[in-house]
Amino acid sequence: MILIALGSNITGPWGSPAETLDRAVEEIAANGADVLARSSWIETKPYGVSDQPGFVNGAIEIKTTLPPEELLVMLHGIEIAAGRKRREKWGPRTLDLDIIAYDDVIMNGGDNSLNLTLPHNDLHHRSFVLLPVRELNPSWQHPVSGKTVTQMLDELAKN
Ligand code: ATP
Ligand code: CA
Ligand code: CA
Repeated sequence: MILIALGSNITGPWGSPAETLDRAVEEIAANGADVLARSSWIETKPYGVSDQPGFVNGAIEIKTTLPPEELLVMLHGIEIAAGRKRREKWGPRTLDLDIIAYDDVIMNGGDNSLNLTLPHNDLHHRSFVLLPVRELNPSWQHPVSGKTVTQMLDELAKN
């Protein structure tokens, strides 16, 4: 599965965070990907930097012939169109689009100009990613650890 995580916590040119995610899905579908499924949008607490508005998060499953780096370039273009300005890590943003997994592809940043790491290096620590992914496919397995999304959520709840 190719899984994209979506997040927004400030209003931008496309409207509220939820409206921004809706529009982002349309833009992804218009730019070389088929959107096969989408999760609910959930309200979540900020991660990493707590002094900022709450987020709306979700995930989609897509199908595309774009290779991973080209997919990320496409997603970055949509972030910019959605008014994303600062690239402060974990700071407020109108739109954040991360590639959570691209089938079983494993990439370790560094070997590409975009620093692309697949699967996303922190996904197992993030309920705001795991909950939407579980909604799409509870038996989805992390390509490196082999853990299912349900197992990863159970482990998060224990820690
Ligand atoms: P995090 O990646 O921890 O969620 P972030 O989304 O706030 O943090 P950004 O500022 O949006 O981080 O992105 C930083 C860089 O991460 C981007 O330049 C991008 O090239 C790189 N990156 C590496 N792996 C991925 C991935 N799987 N999906 C999206 N971006 C990635
Ligand atoms: Ca992110
Ligand atoms: Ca990002």
